[in-house]
Amino acid sequence: MALFGKLFDSNEKEIEKLKPIVLEINSLEEKTKKLKDEAFPKKTQELKERVSEGEPLELILPEAFALAREAAARTIGQRHFDVQLMAGIVLANGKIAEQKTGEGKTLSAVPALYLNSLTGENAHLVTVNDYLARRDAGWMGPIFKLLGLSVSSLINEESFIYDPDFTQGKAWDYRLSHLKPITRREAYDADIIYGINSEFGFDYLRDNMAQGLDEVVQRGHFFAIVDEVDSVLIDEARTPHIISAPDEAPAQKYYEYSKIVEKLTPDLDYKIDEKLRTAHLTDHGISKIEKLYGISNIYEKDFDTVYHLEAALKARTLFQKEKDYIVKDNQVILVDEFTGRLMIGRRLSEGLHQALEAKESVPVQKESKILATVSLQNYFRMYEKLAGMTGTAVTEAEEFHKIYNLPVVVIPTNKPMIREDLADSVYKTGRAKITAAANEIEKAYKKGQPVLVGTTSIEKNEIISQLLRRRGIKHEVLNAKNHEREAEIIAKAGIKGAVTVATNVAGRGVDIILGGDTPKGEDGREFRDTTEWKKWEEKHNEIVKLGGLYVVGTERHESRRIDNQLRGRSGRQGDLGKSLFFVGLDDEIMRLFGGETIAGIMTRFNMPEDVPLSHGIVSRAIEQAQSKVERFNFDIRKHLVEYDDVLNKQREIIYKRRRRILEASSDSKETFLKDEITEKIENAILSLVNVGSQEILENGKSPQERIIEDFTTIIPFDDASKKQLINQMAQFKGIEGKAEFLTNLAKDVYKTREEQMGQDLARQVERFVMLSVVDNLWIDHLDAVENLRQGIGLRGYGQRDPLVEYKNEAFAMFEKLIGAIDDEVVHRIYKIQVQQSPPQMPAHQHVVTQAAGDTSISEELRTREVSEKKQQTANSPQTPASNSQESAVVGRQQAVSGNKKLGRNDPCPCGSGLKYKKCGLINAPAHKG
Ligand code: ADP
Ligand code: MG
Repeated sequence: MALFGKLFDSNEKEIEKLKPIVLEINSLEEKTKKLKDEAFPKKTQELKERVSEGEPLELILPEAFALAREAAARTIGQRHFDVQLMAGIVLANGKIAEQKTGEGKTLSAVPALYLNSLTGENAHLVTVNDYLARRDAGWMGPIFKLLGLSVSSLINEESFIYDPDFTQGKAWDYRLSHLKPITRREAYDADIIYGINSEFGFDYLRDNMAQGLDEVVQRGHFFAIVDEVDSVLIDEARTPHIISAPDEAPAQKYYEYSKIVEKLTPDLDYKIDEKLRTAHLTDHGISKIEKLYGISNIYEKDFDTVYHLEAALKARTLFQKEKDYIVKDNQVILVDEFTGRLMIGRRLSEGLHQALEAKESVPVQKESKILATVSLQNYFRMYEKLAGMTGTAVTEAEEFHKIYNLPVVVIPTNKPMIREDLADSVYKTGRAKITAAANEIEKAYKKGQPVLVGTTSIEKNEIISQLLRRRGIKHEVLNAKNHEREAEIIAKAGIKGAVTVATNVAGRGVDIILGGDTPKGEDGREFRDTTEWKKWEEKHNEIVKLGGLYVVGTERHESRRIDNQLRGRSGRQGDLGKSLFFVGLDDEIMRLFGGETIAGIMTRFNMPEDVPLSHGIVSRAIEQAQSKVERFNFDIRKHLVEYDDVLNKQREIIYKRRRRILEASSDSKETFLKDEITEKIENAILSLVNVGSQEILENGKSPQERIIEDFTTIIPFDDASKKQLINQMAQFKGIEGKAEFLTNLAKDVYKTREEQMGQDLARQVERFVMLSVVDNLWIDHLDAVENLRQGIGLRGYGQRDPLVEYKNEAFAMFEKLIGAIDDEVVHRIYKIQVQQSPPQMPAHQHVVTQAAGDTSISEELRTREVSEKKQQTANSPQTPASNSQESAVVGRQQAVSGNKKLGRNDPCPCGSGLKYKKCGLINAPAHKG
């Protein structure tokens, strides 16, 4: 068992626990080997039955793993190493497996996915980009296929299923060729789903904006393995998923603000804080602007102005083109500061993105309104069982534990790691550093040793590239423009003389094989024992002789983990390799976070620029700076989560309600929505009677008058009917009596409406009203809470904790929201019009027959209504007055709308009071129809 190597204490204990399980899986191998291909799906079925009969997954694990291993060996020719089984067990149990780069995480995940899918729920594998989502589905597809399971892949706006019978045109990567396009819904029906992180999140949000169950695609959140888990759950977790809709505000103002700030002088007119990333106008700056633009007091004008000016300032000073963002196709695209990846579709909030667009003179995209949002943290915490894998997790173990409750287990490597990590080469200036790095690259290049050069930004990528070009060093430049191309370049980074300059994690997830990719057939099987293979081996051995892949870092990153990721590209599966970082004392991280120490070093070392400094104090300063940044960033993310947690609980409640409403629609006989609405109506009436009955005289109005006035905001009556009602009310003395009278009246009207529409339509109306009210108010609430969150830090709370204040206020706002939803529903339900053709109604009608006779409801409906009405009158003891009132209402209501084609500027028929185009639910079926 030497292969398990030496490990630290607690981790070692974990590993010790895994060993007997691995032995058990191994012991099943002989038997499993004898199975015929056709027996695999049957075995899967058997295991599924055992799970459904209540057998715990732990007991099934060894058998399932043995099957998955054999299936892998049989189909793609790779038999899980014991350490891969260990990783698989860790994953299956909902933990993070730290497995070094190139150890074969893709394969390790397979048995864990398989085991968990035996429950009948689908198992998700979350990837960092669309290339990997497709590659891994296509790569592992044959294994699952043999086991009798389906595999799908989700990328931006496209979904695929692995289908060996389907072949699409030649792809550079054989694993991409058997992916057949399917719908999102079908993709979620698959047993195993490989998809991009953001698509899972957006599908969740979209599902919760769906107008019908048929639009919902996800089948719950049971088990997920997040690949490159640190990248997803940590690096990307600072920006939540947001679905937003464009607003109609003018774009011109952004250009104006951008021009204004161009005229300002730093420090004098404004102050920026690079560390906190804030920008504020000084008094001097404010009066300058006021003078320049003839505004007397910009604070008075409207608060918006200052807010936008500061956004324009930030855009100008804190955001650098090619580093923080790039401009492509007339769009400002953010760059992830850690990974150098383009964050397509992500937009900064608070008008900052628009400010950047104005700064770059590209079209300003309209300010948008948040329709739905969830932080990555809270999306992933929904999974019953969450697992992750990456080459670099241990440094972030605390965060994984605290935020996600995910323990990290370090899996030993299959073969010992022999990469040599050299001590940093430190220079006084960036210029000297870059020259030294270029020298080092040139040396390796001349030798033929492949070099991977890591940079922290696209801009620096270009600088290095220029330098190398001047020296005649052939190289490839990678900066996250297209993952597929990126992967192709990275895959070739291990051949002789290759120099690849990449932002640090470009091509993450792709293996760099010394000597280039192994010879393979169409189906991916390696051509072992062929002349081609021999040639490849020669090339491979030559690179090994040259020392393997040389990783040259041109700057330390903000966190040690990212440095380790870069180093990890070399030394795969026991390969020879080397890594070296070049550091300048004026590097950004040192400048911003190195502080005093660096200043001290600068003066102490009075040496020429081009002599590398090597002093323990420098390395310590770097590590200190890094851990400062790491803590700083952790705090930001923790903060985000703490704040999002508040909203998360509210989101859960609202989404649950929404879901119930959607589910109600599937069966028109279900009346629970009606019951709910009826209860809301009763409550509303009771409360308006209560309020109206107070013995205060208001404008000389009697309590009756006040009550009826309120009541008619729920059910519209004409003046004559109102008068009649007021008189009738007088007969009822107590609050309860009055409330009962009005409630009965409301119920009668409700019933009549129901009869007119028919039950199915009535249920649809209920659903529509509930859904549109919940959605509209929830969206407003999101905005309001967002404003609260942004504003809370600025308020002076003295000793009080802003988070506590935020929680309290957000809670109060939510209570108000719930009240407002009830209120809106009650006030809208009677106002919905459903008839088919325009009515010609007199101003008011008092008599049933007249009202019915004049309505434009179809003949068939009318007959039914009349006959049912008779029944109703017979069954329920009612005052004649209430009956006539009811018809008056019906008549009036029908007069309200016709069936003319709605214009975009017409009031929305849902009764929201908004223009049709503005109503948040413009895509609702009821709106479309
Ligand atoms: P990681 O994600 O851990 O960096 P990959 O899943 O990309 O690693 O796999 C790295 C390489 O190792 C791939 O080329 C894969 O084919 C190979 N590999 C993984 N597991 C095995 C195995 N059990 N037998 C043979 N090759 C393997
Ligand atoms: Mg991988």
